Amino acid sequence: MAYITLNKNNFFNNLDIITNKTKSKDKIAIVLKDNAYGHGLVEVATMAKEYGITKAIVRCQVEADMVKDYFEYILVLAEIPLQSSDKIRYTINDIKTIKKFPKGTKVELKVDTLMHRNGIDMSEIEKAIELIKEQGLILEAVFTHHRSADELTSEWFTQNKNFKKVKKIVLASGLNKIRFHSANSASLMRYDNFNEDMARVGIAAYGCLLSDACDVDGFKPVLSLTAIKKSSRKVKKGNRIGYGATYEMKKDCVISSYDFGYGDGFLRSLSNNFITPNEKELIGRISMDNSSFISEEDELLIFDDANIPAKKAETISYEVLTSLKPYIKRIIK
Ligand SMILES: *Cc1c(COP(=O)(O)O)cnc(C)c1O
Repeated sequence: MAYITLNKNNFFNNLDIITNKTKSKDKIAIVLKDNAYGHGLVEVATMAKEYGITKAIVRCQVEADMVKDYFEYILVLAEIPLQSSDKIRYTINDIKTIKKFPKGTKVELKVDTLMHRNGIDMSEIEKAIELIKEQGLILEAVFTHHRSADELTSEWFTQNKNFKKVKKIVLASGLNKIRFHSANSASLMRYDNFNEDMARVGIAAYGCLLSDACDVDGFKPVLSLTAIKKSSRKVKKGNRIGYGATYEMKKDCVISSYDFGYGDGFLRSLSNNFITPNEKELIGRISMDNSSFISEEDELLIFDDANIPAKKAETISYEVLTSLKPYIKRIIK
């Protein structure tokens, strides 16, 4: 079966670059949402722990439970818990939900500073703090998220300015042990002198950060995908390959089908439009469990840098990676 290889040296290399920015491993929260960006939740948690990362961010309770023993601190971004937990913090994304959190829950308040997706409005901060107290919740941090930290525009500065206002309001309300964080990968890399309490790092740790707004040199992709040959055949020039007969052979040659299709996470829009790192051409439509290449190799490296298929498919590495199904075997090397 097709399998994923995780390069631990590259992961540690990326974490070294990130630690250089945060100046401390303790300020790194590794973002593990969506099966660790498709890399494998437990596999990445294992490597992160070995490196000395103590904080992780996940999407939901199921993910939190899976990595609870690997970290000292876990932040759940998008689920209201049934009960409070010592280790796990939960995000308040909307002021109307505060009354749904069980008493004693450790919470972090997300504030909308421009993105207009999740988080309370800046004008609601004082009210939210009041409601959090009334509900008996433990407010540990206030945070925000950048909508275009990876783009070289003024928006990053605008949001930083807005977040400064947020901090002022929070501190003025008498809460002084609160932690603040706003940086994702691109935002962290834009700082000359990072001084927030924590950075929430996803794509840079996985080695796929692309941005014209910050230095992305030195990051190395962690994940590569290898597929296994299912069958081979000689095909003559002029024959057509696969569903819909969309590819016509330009010459006589041997082609093979490999066990990686759109059902496994190979974006179907790459059909007839992809070449492997070793220059094997994808031919015809990607089917659910198969794809065909002009190749005779028993094992075919499909990609080792998610940005390359992403660019071809006019999407981002995040989508290529999170499309990879959890049942694909992950091997740490
Ligand atoms: C996904 C996510 C991140 C990580 O973003 P990257 O660009 O991958 O570093 C950080 N913070 C929040 C709230 C997120 O949802």
